[in-house]
Amino acid sequence: MVVFAFIRIRDWLPLALAAMLIVACFLIPAGDITVESAVAEAALEWPVLIIDAGHGGEDGGASAPGGTLESSINLAVAQKLDALAGLFGVETVMTRESEAIDYPAEAETTAQRKRADQSERLELINSVPNGVLVSIHQNFYPDSRPSGPQVFYADTAESAELGELTHANLLSALAPSSRRVAAPVSDDIYLMREARCTAILAECGFLSNPEESALLETDEYQMKIASVLMASYLQFFSRGDKTVT
Ligand SMILES: [Zn+2]
Repeated sequence: MVVFAFIRIRDWLPLALAAMLIVACFLIPAGDITVESAVAEAALEWPVLIIDAGHGGEDGGASAPGGTLESSINLAVAQKLDALAGLFGVETVMTRESEAIDYPAEAETTAQRKRADQSERLELINSVPNGVLVSIHQNFYPDSRPSGPQVFYADTAESAELGELTHANLLSALAPSSRRVAAPVSDDIYLMREARCTAILAECGFLSNPEESALLETDEYQMKIASVLMASYLQFFSRGDKTVT
């Protein structure tokens, strides 16, 4: 919703302006689209952006050195992406909008509650006609040295192409010296394996790397990530049959 987007974005206004500039930087060199035309064209024609903030509820995911949970960083990036999408008139669906998750009463153990949450998310994702899933996560490794974003893609139509474009954009904006490459997602990631739409999973950075983890906790860096994810979506779905001038 655009109205909600403005309310939310007001808190981050300077960041939002910077974000729009980043989005514009990715779009204008593409040559066949401008930010204004993207706004005008987006609402009716573009796929629904399904934003999945990874983990949440009893599942905090990885943990930063200071104790910040991956689930809260994922949610913060997801909310910024949702707000930016609203500014571009792109319809969104969020798989969760808070840290708390309402689990069904019959799910008694943590494992059962996590399974119930994942299957609810999947049902939502697969119920959206013409959806595109962007799942947001943070990486963790026992060695504190690895850093930089990495995008994984599902085995569904256009996922590899969107994943590779998004990965290249994230690297060029956040980690130009990184040699990581986009890769097919592991088969044990339930949502990515079972989603029927175009689907990518962005590991935005490493919580196990102290410098990168400190960045990932800031609004500025989260907005930068959200801007690149937004720009990649707009850039990808403005190709080919869509002649936007
Ligand atoms: Zn994760």
